[in-house]
Amino acid sequence: MKRISSEIKEAKTIAIGGHVRPDGDCVCSVMALYHYLKKELPQAQIDVYLEEPPAPFRVLEGIEEIKSEFNTDTIYDVFFAVDCNDERLGDALPIFRRARKRINIDHHISNTGSGDINIVEPERSSTAELLYDLMEPELVDVEIAKAIYIGIAHDTGVFRYSNTSPHTMQIAADLLKFGFDFSALIEETFYEKTYFQTQIMGRAILGSVRFMDGRCIVSMVSRRMMEFYCVSPKDLDGIVNQLQGVKGVDCAIFMYEIGTLEYKVSMRSNGLVDVSQVAVKFGGGGHVRAAGCTMNGTYHDNINNLSREIEAQLKKTGE
Ligand code: AMP
Ligand code: MN
Ligand code: MN
Repeated sequence: MKRISSEIKEAKTIAIGGHVRPDGDCVCSVMALYHYLKKELPQAQIDVYLEEPPAPFRVLEGIEEIKSEFNTDTIYDVFFAVDCNDERLGDALPIFRRARKRINIDHHISNTGSGDINIVEPERSSTAELLYDLMEPELVDVEIAKAIYIGIAHDTGVFRYSNTSPHTMQIAADLLKFGFDFSALIEETFYEKTYFQTQIMGRAILGSVRFMDGRCIVSMVSRRMMEFYCVSPKDLDGIVNQLQGVKGVDCAIFMYEIGTLEYKVSMRSNGLVDVSQVAVKFGGGGHVRAAGCTMNGTYHDNINNLSREIEAQLKKTGE
């Protein structure tokens, strides 16, 4: 791996971990790195620790190798934390802390670096894009290419968000040369929704409310709703993006209940509001246009607290 090969070449045991509730970029980055390291360091033992990925990612080869039980005493020579800082590693955090060398590879602007070695580049569309540039081209095979491509596609909303750069497209073009069925992969992992996922999205959209003269929109899914529609948090991806698509909206907020008076908050913005800054205020993080945090309190208190920050930012921009 470019830039860090001397740091890992002696490693006999390597662990790879990503963030809690892993998204497409996270799952794909972890898997791309796994396949790559197996080729670069064929003698090393490489283990992946990650919460169970959403079902569509079963299209990735080797996904069954992921360990979703984190009960190990192993002290790894190297731990790669990918697409997050240490705080979001969840139950993999103790394994990360114990490791002899910690390498953090990420693209979140809110990440100040959690490793002994940090490659954190916020201008990157995705961790997958950043990883690709660290790879020696001759070691990249079709499985690695697939994972990198899907990872980039997920974090760019299929090359649509403003984080898509000419370089992102250049990498995507290189990857397509491997000849995999990119169209089917995007359809299956990004667009396709189960019936229940579609129903809960409809329910959340129906329940959405606009405020601040239509510049903000908010919606919520309770645990009872999730039970009723037989869905879990993994099934709620995409709802906040749909809300952000409403004409006139500068900032969309979506919350789902994770415990009593406890909500996971997702925010999206058109760039006018820096939602990463808002999320950081409440202990979370992310990017300018997409960020998240966990909040305690009633739904309405949370909206009040978030909207105060959003309003202050909008006032500052004067638009
Ligand atoms: P989400 O709304 O969960 O899709 O997340 C939007 C973006 O913010 C993603 O890039 C996440 O990785 C990031 N993010 C979400 N929650 C947090 C958090 N608690 N801390 C740091 N980053 C987060
Ligand atoms: Mn992610
Ligand atoms: Mn990412």
